[in-house]
Amino acid sequence: MPELVPSVADRVISKSKYISGLQCHKLLWHQYNAKDLIPPYDASHQAVFDQGHEVGRRARLLYPGGVLIERERWEMDGLLADTTQALPLGMPIYEAALLGGGVYAQVDILAPTGDDGWDIIEVKSSTSVKSVHLDDVAVQRFAAERAGIRIRRCLLAHIDSTYVRSSDIDNAKLFRLVDITDDVDDRLVGLADRIAALAAVIVQADSPDVAIGSHCTSPYDCPMKPVCWKAMPEENVTRLVGGDKQVIQVEAARSRQTHVDQARVHDFLGRLTYPLFFLDFETFGTAVPLLDGVRPYQQVPFQFSLHVRRDAGGALTHHGFLADGPADPRQQLLDEMRAHLESAGSIVVYFAGFETGRLTELARDFPAYAPWIETIIGRVVDLHAPFKAFDVYHPLQNGRTSIKSVLPALTGSGYEGMAIADGGTASQTFLRIVFGAGPEGQAIDDVAAVRKDLEAYCELDTLAMVRILDVIERLARL
Ligand code: SF4
Repeated sequence: MPELVPSVADRVISKSKYISGLQCHKLLWHQYNAKDLIPPYDASHQAVFDQGHEVGRRARLLYPGGVLIERERWEMDGLLADTTQALPLGMPIYEAALLGGGVYAQVDILAPTGDDGWDIIEVKSSTSVKSVHLDDVAVQRFAAERAGIRIRRCLLAHIDSTYVRSSDIDNAKLFRLVDITDDVDDRLVGLADRIAALAAVIVQADSPDVAIGSHCTSPYDCPMKPVCWKAMPEENVTRLVGGDKQVIQVEAARSRQTHVDQARVHDFLGRLTYPLFFLDFETFGTAVPLLDGVRPYQQVPFQFSLHVRRDAGGALTHHGFLADGPADPRQQLLDEMRAHLESAGSIVVYFAGFETGRLTELARDFPAYAPWIETIIGRVVDLHAPFKAFDVYHPLQNGRTSIKSVLPALTGSGYEGMAIADGGTASQTFLRIVFGAGPEGQAIDDVAAVRKDLEAYCELDTLAMVRILDVIERLARL
């Protein structure tokens, strides 16, 4: 077995750094030479990691009776020694740490095959096998075999998106185990050379000069984005769309005027029937379903905001709903919606695919409401449509058409100053106050204040639609 040295982390490439290096040499270099310059992960990334821990814990139950090697012990005592001591025991090893061929890799589950061999089981929170997973497992196999451990098969345990929770979680059904041995073997070809090339990057005196591009978000969102993208002039990071839309975008940027296709905007406005119901859902979705009858990552609506305008330019009324406990919120949400959506009038949403998707799932999961939900879906009008088609385009949108880009471009004010300013944060906040999800030791003390923040955020989403429609109506009159 290779010798473990205290400074091993400085002298070998870890599995995660190998993956970083495949994505971008500049990121890899910073991870070794200028860690301080890498911004910390934000709350949404942290939530993904926390979810990964829960998924990992459940996957271990598929291989019971194993030993868990805590990473801290490696850092203090030398985990490799623990792992190699555990190997002869012939029991599964969780978080097995392996060092071989200049690579350090932790294997989620190393399962004995009964014939002196081992299976690598990599656990992922995704719902399919992705290309990056094959590189990830290839480097594990490489380290294991260089460390003298015979690997029989490589398996990927990923979330099965068709699983529907019924009472307790059935771990055997929550995961799908896929044999990826052959694909992993393909990725082993040339792996030693790639490691050598990455090792050469790490010891360079200066950071490699890498231009920003699509590799900044694939396969992972790069933590250096706030640094690299900020350093670029605004026009370089502006999203340039294609075709006719690009002509509109360039012309609007040049003239600094809002582009309006009057005929198409009038068509759009003609589809609206008063009273108008501006509707927005907030949802949560987790890898391990929290409620009965729910699938992994199914987006469960827990909140809505509704602004109602009875006539053009008329007064607004508002109604909101926010679930207040861990029980399934959907039936109460449906009842609240039914009490306020009346029987006629357009239901205005932004990105109709999302709202109608949730409504369709509600109809499937609550069939008694299905006929009514069908009528609701038939009344939906998508306020995103004129922006998606560039029938209305303001140069400050910079090629973007989300409500978060359109609202400030058209009205001069946006979501600044909001304690909660995006859907991901709203979702994580709700999970924390209701289900206690989130990092330990970071309990929310003032739940009432946080609920007010959630209500304010969702309310602004529908008020934003009202304001945007006001601008469209004004532009149509010009
Ligand atoms: S943001 Fe892009 S260019 Fe910068 S380190 Fe990350 S991947 Fe490389």
